[in-house]
Amino acid sequence: MSHRNQQHKAGDLHFLKRLNRSAILEMVRRTPGLTRADIAAQAQLTKATVGAGVQSLLNQGWLREGELQKSSGGRPGRALHLNEEQHVLLGAEVGVHGLRLVACTLAGQVLASHHEHLVPTTPEVTAELLGKLLHALMHEAPVKNRHCLGLGIALPGPISPGQPVLRLAPNLGWRDIRFLDLLRPHLPRLDGTWLMDNEAKSAAFGELYFRTGTIPESLMYVSAGTGIGSGMVEGSHLPLVARGIQGLAGEIGHTVLQPGGLYCHCGNRGCAETLVSGWSIRAALGIAEEEDLIETLLPRMHEPEVQVTLRRAGEALGILLLNLHHSQNPSEIVLGGSLTRLGAPLLDPALHYFQENQTRLLGTPQQVPLRVVEDATFIAARGAAAQVLASIIHGPSDLF
Ligand SMILES: [Zn+2]
Repeated sequence: MSHRNQQHKAGDLHFLKRLNRSAILEMVRRTPGLTRADIAAQAQLTKATVGAGVQSLLNQGWLREGELQKSSGGRPGRALHLNEEQHVLLGAEVGVHGLRLVACTLAGQVLASHHEHLVPTTPEVTAELLGKLLHALMHEAPVKNRHCLGLGIALPGPISPGQPVLRLAPNLGWRDIRFLDLLRPHLPRLDGTWLMDNEAKSAAFGELYFRTGTIPESLMYVSAGTGIGSGMVEGSHLPLVARGIQGLAGEIGHTVLQPGGLYCHCGNRGCAETLVSGWSIRAALGIAEEEDLIETLLPRMHEPEVQVTLRRAGEALGILLLNLHHSQNPSEIVLGGSLTRLGAPLLDPALHYFQENQTRLLGTPQQVPLRVVEDATFIAARGAAAQVLASIIHGPSDLF
């Protein structure tokens, strides 16, 4: 065998070992408590291959052994779990009115978090502040002695497919921003995988990827905050995010609900955001950018003007949900974003419209589950952290 052939063979073997390790880790992530025999049976791998893969994952701190467990092989074996003590994943969301940061374990358990209110400003000022806050988060007690696997950033606008460029954040007025490049000088010692994505796509990814037990085939996350967007993920092993050729897939805030209606920040008229979004509610009720929308509104919920505004916004949200159901038909819809904190006055008309109309087309009683996240503050940041983990397990990184 030539030297080159040997090298090739060694490369293949390395690749195979890696594939097996990622398959084993994915199985334990999804079904904590599996034994080596369970994994061998389910993945159709030999016991020796599973044994070697598990040992390597134990040695590197990805897995830990638990209690003795009955297994499909007959003889009891040790239950395997993710090792949540060694690594940390960082995620942050740059929102229009705030920065939200999390540090979490391999299973997505939040170890530390921080929410900083911020009046919209430049990308440079935002990056500098985020750098300081992340630096502080990394030095908090539950985080500081762990090995950091990387950082994911969720941003409020479409991202160029295949390129770390925020094309546009209409509600911040940012265009073509390489946000990671702006952030890097402020965090010179943060190694590992860095990535960025649209906030609704990050949130959707995290909601599916950190799920254990029964995993839906697809999941749509609807983010109702200052703007309104959505993210759709499909596939249980490595969920894929729908992006479209320009990264615009899911930009439901700019689907038109009212031809000839009010002008939107994007320049078109009658976009969904002119009817339901944090900014259109602010505009309708005269609430300034400097004020926190939710804190300002909660004590005013009894006012007829507020009730009418929220009811109309809720009705528009219901129409959007129904349109999403008919255009994308996800197995599950998760509704989050800061506006969910406004509760029934906004959500009741939306959910009522969706539930009344979602089964009409097929005429069968099967309902698509829709879950409202009451406090969605850290969902996108945690989702960006999930994307870091997935890119390490499935990508070319040498961290795994
Ligand atoms: Zn628009």
